[in-house]
Amino acid sequence: MDLNLDLNANQLNHDNHYDVVIIGGGPAGATAAIYTARADLKTLVIDKGLTAGALGLTAKIANYPGVPGEISGADLLKMMREQAQSFGAIFTSDKVQAVDLTAETKTIFANGGTYTARTVIIATGSMGRGQRVKGEDELLGRGVSYCATCDAAFFRDQVVAVAGNSDEAIEEALFLTKFVQQVHFLSPTPELKAAPQMMAELTAHPKVMMHFGTAPREVMGTDRVEAVRVAQRGRPEEIIPVTGAFIYLQGGKPITDFLQGQLPISDTGCLIVDKEYQTALPGVYAVGDVLCNHVKQAVIAAAEGAVAAIAIEKQLHHRKQLVADWAK
Ligand SMILES: Cc1cc2nc3c(=O)[nH]c(=O)nc-3n(C[C@H](O)[C@H](O)[C@H](O)COP(=O)(O)OP(=O)(O)OC[C@H]3O[C@@H](n4cnc5c(N)ncnc54)[C@H](O)[C@@H]3O)c2cc1C
Repeated sequence: MDLNLDLNANQLNHDNHYDVVIIGGGPAGATAAIYTARADLKTLVIDKGLTAGALGLTAKIANYPGVPGEISGADLLKMMREQAQSFGAIFTSDKVQAVDLTAETKTIFANGGTYTARTVIIATGSMGRGQRVKGEDELLGRGVSYCATCDAAFFRDQVVAVAGNSDEAIEEALFLTKFVQQVHFLSPTPELKAAPQMMAELTAHPKVMMHFGTAPREVMGTDRVEAVRVAQRGRPEEIIPVTGAFIYLQGGKPITDFLQGQLPISDTGCLIVDKEYQTALPGVYAVGDVLCNHVKQAVIAAAEGAVAAIAIEKQLHHRKQLVADWAK
């Protein structure tokens, strides 16, 4: 099963306005998309990578109802996304950087485009990073980047490092190869967590030097990035001279940075919702591991996505003011 989840120009209809934009295509977001698309709501799911979330990176899952035996999290997620696509949901591989959720029409800013929506579901999970690498914050924008698509051209013919092990990190590294002289790919794990063909393309690329089991400890430099200091399993630390450090590491915190304080967040960093998973802002919902009082299991995340989607369907089909706005 191989899905092409990228948008093509025709699917976008040159109209980036949707009934529902879902940020995050894990089990929570993909299930919500099944329900909203099936209810004939124009649905866009923006997701930064199949293996960038908790389910996508899980090697084996055996307790998802209706799916007997062992299946990889990525394969299970592909099935969910394929089901949502079969009802008309559109998926795009992109990372949401910012949002404006306060107006009645919501705006979502991703690396590859800007979208507007009547309603938004936040389903970004809890793989966000708490702890930064030493030097990362100080050199952000001066060689440290989280977006190769945005910044690769600034590093033409230079040597850069990419840290991560998901398909997001691999895609970004491959994009960088079009511009840079060399990419040092720092995978903190001994193996990558991505589709076999992507891994093969990366490891065979003549501009890429793989460093498995290697974690960045420090981004070094005075005014700009000059090197990364890395720790390698069973080997002494090493300093690799680079002028750019692209960081796609994962942690265990709810991913809410792109909200920039527009929604109340609990002391533990989680979004607060009502029983239908609506946040303090009307039309904005949050589901899955991005919430706190939540059992972290795929089936629970999926169920929450379904509840929010059904609430949205009711809201959009019965509220006259919103319907009038959409028709404008
Ligand atoms: C190692 C491990 C093993 C597990 N094993 C099991 C198991 O056996 N059974 C079980 O039921 N559960 C298991 N879980 C838990 C389960 O995977 C999670 O509870 C579930 O995946 C949560 O779903 P979610 O949709 O909320 O988040 P996620 O699955 O994390 O999905 C979030 C999605 O949001 C996307 N995203 C994040 N930020 C952005 C952004 N800014 N822009 C665009 N997209 C973004 C990510 O790419 C990702 O696809 C496991 C989890 C882990 C980590």
